[in-house]
Amino acid sequence: MKVNTVVVCGGGGFIGGHLVADLLKKGAKQVRCIDVKPLDEWYQVHPEAENIVADLNLRDKAFEACKGMDTVINLACNMGGMGFIEKNKGLCMISVLINTHLLMGAREHGAQRFFYASSACVYNADKQKDKKLDVYLKEEDAYPAMPEDGYGWEKLFSERMCRHFREDFGVSTRVARFHNVYGPNGTFEGGREKAPAAICRKVIHAKLSGDHSIEIWGDGLQTRSFMYISDCLKGIYSITESDIIDPINLGSSEGVSINQLVDIVEDIAGIKLKRSYNLDAPKGVNGRNSDNTLIQKLLGWQPNTRLRDGMEKTYRWIYDQMAGRYPAKAREAVAAGR
Ligand code: NAD
Repeated sequence: MKVNTVVVCGGGGFIGGHLVADLLKKGAKQVRCIDVKPLDEWYQVHPEAENIVADLNLRDKAFEACKGMDTVINLACNMGGMGFIEKNKGLCMISVLINTHLLMGAREHGAQRFFYASSACVYNADKQKDKKLDVYLKEEDAYPAMPEDGYGWEKLFSERMCRHFREDFGVSTRVARFHNVYGPNGTFEGGREKAPAAICRKVIHAKLSGDHSIEIWGDGLQTRSFMYISDCLKGIYSITESDIIDPINLGSSEGVSINQLVDIVEDIAGIKLKRSYNLDAPKGVNGRNSDNTLIQKLLGWQPNTRLRDGMEKTYRWIYDQMAGRYPAKAREAVAAGR
């Protein structure tokens, strides 16, 4: 990305923290980072950036955010994994205010580019009924609209807002539909975590506590694909710079079932756990994968991090966050491979 002056909205979050770090590394002239959470709750704080705590639902804050910025990246959203979005539909939908006010601010202050982070949750639920690895969702599968209730509708509406601000007011919008992004420096507990981090946490707990069991949400046969954070960042840059005006998939097409994801984490941890299945827990659609035909054709983009490698890095980071909570003896036993 031709980095100049960039505001990263939601920069205290998982993807935002990594993006700010990378923009600074690339020598961006000015990086403004905004999040509603207090600074000590941001996953990463980069002193070289302009770090601002503000609620971007508010029109004035969103306008100030865009002032003097060439590029507006909107990653700010009240969201989480299935455990959060199934139970907080109203809260998820309020985030339409963030994107709407940021688009208005970008228009007012003449931003040259506006990037919006949408989601695979916009896709029509009818197309995701099969528990198969090859449920590849193409961009046109978002319509006729029947997205994930709450969160998915917020994303679909905000995509539409981007389109109409581009068509009617000339704001140069770009939209990516992220498919499950994972990596270090993100949520792994507290109710907003997603499957890769939650499974790492459960396996690490089993290992350090000696209770060699794991509860899996659903029957474990539901399928997904997961994109490592560094691949996501490259995709954000490519899409933001590109001439692609319609929403486009940004995800891995390496499908796995949740059971297979648990296999991978068990393998990393060097442990085998007794599995139980909670069929009443939130589990989302049955099968979902990213059809990458369009992004490969238009941008030549494809993720180059294997799931096993990305999960290893994620596991190690979560392990470091958790290890201090367990008795030293447990950690020593793990270090000694016992
Ligand atoms: P995240 O929750 O870690 O980051 C989002 C940040 O937005 C949080 O730090 C939150 O505090 C902030 N925020 C929420 N409301 C705000 C407000 N009113 N004002 C200012 N900041 C506010 O999530 P993430 O994983 O980094 O996701 C970033 C974006 O990508 C989100 O829009 C999300 O919907 C989208 N997305 C993520 C994934 C994924 O797997 N991580 C998948 C699909 C889409």
